[in-house]
Amino acid sequence: MHEYSIVASLIDVCEKEAKKHHAKAIKRLEVSIGRLSGIEIHFLEQCFNTFKEETICHDATLAINVCEVVLQCASCHEKSVVKENHFICPKCHSEDVKMIGGQELHIKSIEIIEDER
Ligand SMILES: [Zn+2]
Repeated sequence: MHEYSIVASLIDVCEKEAKKHHAKAIKRLEVSIGRLSGIEIHFLEQCFNTFKEETICHDATLAINVCEVVLQCASCHEKSVVKENHFICPKCHSEDVKMIGGQELHIKSIEIIEDER
């Protein structure tokens, strides 16, 4: 159920951003989510649409980019994108790899609707 708390914090960030720019609403929110972040994207969208009603995001659309898993090899330092969950360096076949992408969750952009005065 941590999707609810993710949505709550996303909306929190939007509210702070809106306040900073004297915006009346948020138009679009774009987030990047790693494929192995453990977040259920459909559920996250559902939560967002339920939660947003009473907030600054009531008219906002949520755009989600799914980020592929990126490994960095400790032996040859090659960075590679893996489609399957094989945590092996495709260049030198070392298993000594570190996941440097694919578990993230961050806000890529927030589009606001400015208060026209
Ligand atoms: Zn390697």
